[in-house]
Amino acid sequence: MAYEAVIGLECHIQLNTRSKMFCDCPAAFGAEANTNVCPVCLGLPGALPRANRAAIDSALRLGIDRGEITQYDRPLCEGGALPVGSGGRQRSFELIRIHVEEDTGKSFHPERFGDRPVSRVDFNRAGVPLLELVTQPVFRETAECSAFLTGLRRLVRWLAISDGDMEKGHMRCDANVSIRPAGTTQLGTKTELKNLNSIRGVEKGLAAEIARQKRALEAGETIEQATLLYDADHDKLAVMRSKEYAHDYRYFPEPDLPLLRVSAVWIAQARESLPELPWEAERRLETEFALSGEVASIVGTDREYVRLMEDLARAGVQPRTAANWVANVVIAHINRLGIDVGGFRERVPLAPFATLLTRIESGQVTATAAKSLLEEVLDQGADPFTRFTSGGQAVSGDDVLLPLVRAVIAENQGPVEQYRNGKTATLGFLVGQVMKKSGSQAVAQTVRELLVRELSEPAAT
Ligand code: ADP
Ligand code: ZN
Repeated sequence: MAYEAVIGLECHIQLNTRSKMFCDCPAAFGAEANTNVCPVCLGLPGALPRANRAAIDSALRLGIDRGEITQYDRPLCEGGALPVGSGGRQRSFELIRIHVEEDTGKSFHPERFGDRPVSRVDFNRAGVPLLELVTQPVFRETAECSAFLTGLRRLVRWLAISDGDMEKGHMRCDANVSIRPAGTTQLGTKTELKNLNSIRGVEKGLAAEIARQKRALEAGETIEQATLLYDADHDKLAVMRSKEYAHDYRYFPEPDLPLLRVSAVWIAQARESLPELPWEAERRLETEFALSGEVASIVGTDREYVRLMEDLARAGVQPRTAANWVANVVIAHINRLGIDVGGFRERVPLAPFATLLTRIESGQVTATAAKSLLEEVLDQGADPFTRFTSGGQAVSGDDVLLPLVRAVIAENQGPVEQYRNGKTATLGFLVGQVMKKSGSQAVAQTVRELLVRELSEPAAT
């Protein structure tokens, strides 16, 4: 029988607030164990928690954008959807809720203390604010889940509420999955996968669990509700606990915590503070600058890319040149060097960079020469001001190019013959050979003209 998978994601986003959710302890990472703690975040009786305004603000920013704010009921935001995907293939995935939670302490066990096994607990993370975002069971394919997580990561970075890095634990994700006969609508029994430490891990873990459930059903077994741990290194699933219910957690209202009321003014302020959102920016780049959907979606992966592209355009570069350079050159260097856009802009100041790109447009340097100049600046510490404004002068004079053109004709009799016999496509190859000889400094258009002129002369006898 053909089965289809049904998947819902529960994501935890670690907020980049300075202090914890209900106290003033630093939320910073990496301190010595149990140094960023106080009676509130240790959960000691009698401590008086106060909600962190910045954390609620972050939840509102994400929530306004994606759903309804509920003012009295428990989850801060309900409903809504996250649009994901790019270049025409946009899809929206519906959410159940977004709310605010606290992170827990971290336990290390078992370890040895002398001859005894012990467990240690570090409470530094306890009380650090997290957003929980829960989707409806809307995914059918594991690839949709990765697209969703990639889109969510982009959004939280864009809104500057979290770094959103799964590998570093800034974003965590549990996946609920069931299968059912294709074409039916009733939901099957779900299992929950934990310990998915990367977007790729989510995909792989789900694939393994979907396969396991199929095998079980095909063998006539039933699926037991369970929580499973995924071991990415061995691509294995292990049962962590079976069946659990809300009452297992013994939820009860924190008597010391006053009811959180989010005023209309607060919501209005949060709405006002929202920047242009990624998919809006993408659409605007396409319409305002006539960029292709593909380039717009690459530039639109990060707000800082959009900013750099627009700053270059404002400095006089053709928007399409600016966008192509950001999409095809700048991002590659940023990834290669492991820096961010800020780091790139420090090394490559806007004004000379804009000058370099306008010089390509006016034919003073070739794109290839400009790329080498950029590498000189990034890798060899060359001065961008002098190199970008006068370096890499393109060669277009006949006196320099004609000898190169003649040499290429002499060395490539085969292609030259083909060209003369009407196979004009070989011209591109010959242009390329001259460009190579010139160290990519030649202006291609001039080379082309010279070649056509020289090749139309009767063959030397
Ligand atoms: P519970 O309270 O049982 O954990 P929720 O309704 O809060 O369930 O949903 C938790 C997550 O599980 C959500 O992301 C939801 O989309 C997903 N989910 C619920 N039922 C199923 C199902 N049968 N198959 C797959 N995912 C499911
Ligand atoms: Zn504290």
